[in-house]
Amino acid sequence: MPSPPRACAEINLQALDHNLSFARQHSGQQTMAILKAGAYGHGLVNFARHLDSKGLPYFGVANVYEARQLSDAGIQTPIYLLGATFPEEREEIVQCGWTPCLSSLSEIDDFVRLCAKHNRSLTAHLSVDTGMGRGGFLPDQIPSALNHLALPQNKSIELKGIGSHLPSADEDEDFTKSQFAAFDHLVREHFAQRENFHVHLANSAGLLDYRSTTTNLVRPGLLMYGVSPLAEWQDQLQPVMTLKSRVSLVRNLPKGHGVSYGRTSILEKDSAVATIGVGYGDGYPRNISGKGAHILINGKAAPILGRVTMDQIMADVSHLPDCQPGDEVELFGPNLSVTQVAQWADTIPWEVLTRITPRVTRIYST
Ligand SMILES: *Cc1c(COP(=O)(O)O)cnc(C)c1O
Repeated sequence: MPSPPRACAEINLQALDHNLSFARQHSGQQTMAILKAGAYGHGLVNFARHLDSKGLPYFGVANVYEARQLSDAGIQTPIYLLGATFPEEREEIVQCGWTPCLSSLSEIDDFVRLCAKHNRSLTAHLSVDTGMGRGGFLPDQIPSALNHLALPQNKSIELKGIGSHLPSADEDEDFTKSQFAAFDHLVREHFAQRENFHVHLANSAGLLDYRSTTTNLVRPGLLMYGVSPLAEWQDQLQPVMTLKSRVSLVRNLPKGHGVSYGRTSILEKDSAVATIGVGYGDGYPRNISGKGAHILINGKAAPILGRVTMDQIMADVSHLPDCQPGDEVELFGPNLSVTQVAQWADTIPWEVLTRITPRVTRIYST
């Protein structure tokens, strides 16, 4: 009989369903489920299988490595590649029928060449850079991109959509509003007549707080996982992942004893100290050390003592006399938000979630 895992991530697929319905209702648009980075650490193929029957127009992934995992698993939902592609990846993209977004005329030419080689056509979207600075045609380059795609020799590329990305929808309202206006203007000018055409701009923060007059598709990531980039919407969402571990030891240590590497924590009084089986080797951020962070042991807050080590952390349980080995620990989840953990660690919830390592057993429940 294998022993239970020391650290596990419980993944609540019902919460995912709730968040997805919220995204659909709140935006009134179709949803591209963003599944990059292993579904933000939640498990790419498991999430794709769960969502495959929900009639979503696309799954958004970062690269061909992730696209291949979905195709190999027999996923039927069309696969959209969110980022620029490398030349060596394009043959596989054409052969597998994934949907790239296009940022340059030379990419178009390369895809056309590969379509001819394999006697195939390719569905693609145009990417337009309205301020992100990571990819896409600049707005004033869109007419020449459209002219290029209209040439008879480029017919193998079927343009099915246009998208852009928001760099600061959770930080800069004025800029984001101007981006929506610029994007809507561009779409009205050049794409108004198209049918069965996907027009998309909003990530999680964009769909929560902004409205476009032209888009028909949103691309939520973080929000689907039950974490709001904007605090005022958190109540509407249900966190999907709960990172858990267990207490392995509880010991009484005397005043003046140091705890963990570097002895940054010296006990100010005789204390009960619990050792917990999770560390930065599981993705729990080492940078949280010394920031006043806490964990929940049987639902009660216990302050972390000293540095996070690779495989274990220590917490003060002097105020929890019943605490004993085996007790359940919540590192983050419904009762302690990953956003709070990220703030303690001077980072963002996206990073905390995507850094949970493979050593953490994912346990799915519906
Ligand atoms: C990651 C990503 C998203 C999702 O962003 P969230 O803030 O997690 O909702 C949407 N669009 C693109 C292009 C992305 O790269």
